[in-house]
Amino acid sequence: MSPMADSRESPVRKPAPGQHDEAGSAAGLATDIPDREKLDEGARRQIANANERLTGVLDSIRDGFVTLDRNWCYTYVNAEAARQGRMNREEMLGRCIWDIFPQARGTLFERELQRSITEQAPVSFDVEDLRYNQSLRLRVYPGASGISIYGVDISAEKNAVEATARLAAIVESSDDAIISKDLNGVITSWNRGAERIFGYQASEMIGQPVSKLTPDDRIDEMPKILDRIRRGERVDHYETVRRAKSGRLLNISLTVSPVHDGNGRIIGASKVARDITEQRLASEALRQSETRLNLALEAGGMGAWEWDIGAGRVTWSPQLEAIHGLPAGTFGGTFEDYQRDMHPEDRDRVLIAIREALEKREDYRVEYRIILPDGKIAWLEARGRLTVDSKGEPERMAGICTDITDRKQAEEEFFRQANRLARSNADLREFAYVASHDLQEPLRNIASFTQMLNQRYKGRFDADADQYIKYVTDAAGRMTHLIRDLLGYTRLLNADELPLTNVSLGESVGVALRDLQTSIDENHAVVDVAPLPTVRGDKVQLTQLFQNLIGNAIKYRRSEAPHICISAEPRGQDVVLSVRDNGLGIGSAYHERIFGVFKRLHGAERPGTGIGLAICKKIVEKHGGVIWVESTPGQGSTFKFSIKTGATSA
Ligand code: ADP
Repeated sequence: MSPMADSRESPVRKPAPGQHDEAGSAAGLATDIPDREKLDEGARRQIANANERLTGVLDSIRDGFVTLDRNWCYTYVNAEAARQGRMNREEMLGRCIWDIFPQARGTLFERELQRSITEQAPVSFDVEDLRYNQSLRLRVYPGASGISIYGVDISAEKNAVEATARLAAIVESSDDAIISKDLNGVITSWNRGAERIFGYQASEMIGQPVSKLTPDDRIDEMPKILDRIRRGERVDHYETVRRAKSGRLLNISLTVSPVHDGNGRIIGASKVARDITEQRLASEALRQSETRLNLALEAGGMGAWEWDIGAGRVTWSPQLEAIHGLPAGTFGGTFEDYQRDMHPEDRDRVLIAIREALEKREDYRVEYRIILPDGKIAWLEARGRLTVDSKGEPERMAGICTDITDRKQAEEEFFRQANRLARSNADLREFAYVASHDLQEPLRNIASFTQMLNQRYKGRFDADADQYIKYVTDAAGRMTHLIRDLLGYTRLLNADELPLTNVSLGESVGVALRDLQTSIDENHAVVDVAPLPTVRGDKVQLTQLFQNLIGNAIKYRRSEAPHICISAEPRGQDVVLSVRDNGLGIGSAYHERIFGVFKRLHGAERPGTGIGLAICKKIVEKHGGVIWVESTPGQGSTFKFSIKTGATSA
């Protein structure tokens, strides 16, 4: 509500005596001429002319100007004021301001107008007209017949101030150093980023030459940069070194641009400096680790690859291109290119492995062949790791490919050799078996006929003949033992997997001792047997094992009576059996050798075939164990073997 609307009388008072009525002449344009009729024609024309001139002047000024009478009605509106009000001048003249702009009531505008009238003093204030995004600086002058208002459109000025403030805020908040300097290189502004990077406060640097930051060995850089700026050129991302207040050298990326004044003259330069020390260190570290990785890849005959699944792009390192026989940079980069040189027989297998890795979200590993440009075949092993996106969908796969051609060839050669060896071993076993088996028959004849010769013709020829017959009989006997042991050994070699049963080792030892009873008695041997476990094994073979070891312990005795101890001690999943004697002992040089076929350390005075320990070794190995001897010559021997326990109640 306007005070004018509230009170019937006008609040506009006459100016106080001596108070300057600035608006007087303008406000009185049409109203303040005292007694028109009393003026003569000439004077009236003069006034009219003056009014016209004044109106012309007021219309042509760039500020808005209106006069209001005591009833708040427009008595004068210039062109700019009509524009500011977005109205026609004719629509305004004679109408009350509050009817035209009811929204202005109760606002700062009305309050300031009232104040000016009440205090009879000019007031000045800014108003913002949001509808037209317009800012006006108003000056109100109270006069005797009303008020006049000057309105200056300060929108552009305000926008410029705001823009400058915004820019200043950006400059201040920037992490980069933003510095301006004149054409002599003297610093004219220094932001907070510059303070942070170089360690100098703005107060220390403004007015200083910018060369204060330049290390001695780069001092000639600055004049060159300033020369370019003077020519109106810009220096972009120039990487250099500057020295901070602390003395530390910084890697800096500089962008320097000329600064122009309102007339387009170059008056200085703005410089944006970014500290790239960390970036440099990081990229140097990255470069070094890449070099190391490349070296490692090359040394290992490997190449790296990456497959962007969504984009269908495959990237190969130069090493991988080399493995495929391609010059660096010539790999096509699609999934089809990747399959191109794959061996047709391996392609499906590789594609299935990839599909499975994608479906199961697993790592991927596959070996396949490729055909090189020269037609040769190479073997590759590819390993890949899958990465998934935030929804768990496969995104990319990256990994390495290793050239395994040499390994594959070695493997193939190894398998060929192993097969050859297995075949020749089988042939040998077969031969040894057939030979020993078939020799038995003629040998039996030789043995029985030499026996008959001995019985019937002993003493009928001379003494030499008797001696010869004895040699033949003994040799036939030794040969019979040899063939029997050899046959036993080859049977073991040719035997299939053992049918395993629970075998009480105590019982096996009991059977062996019974078979050896005569020898034990003749040699007055003492055999101590500790409690022995039950194991999974072949009863006949394990009994023979003990029989061979105990037999040897008696046979290779010293002069004193043999004393043999048999015991067992657990070792992890296994049990270790010991057969200890107090016999001749064995030199360490022979500890391995005695387990070979036909290896004997003693002559005919201790008869034997040299096969007994070879049979023991085979039996132990067939049971998944190992056999060895611990012995010192003259102090007896201890034969030990390991065997798996694991007896079941079945
Ligand atoms: P053989 O007893 O038939 O000669 P073996 O294969 O059983 O054949 O033994 C190989 C050799 O190991 C024997 O000739 C002997 O010299 C030595 N030997 C075996 N057992 C013992 C032992 N308990 N004490 C000393 N020497 C032994």
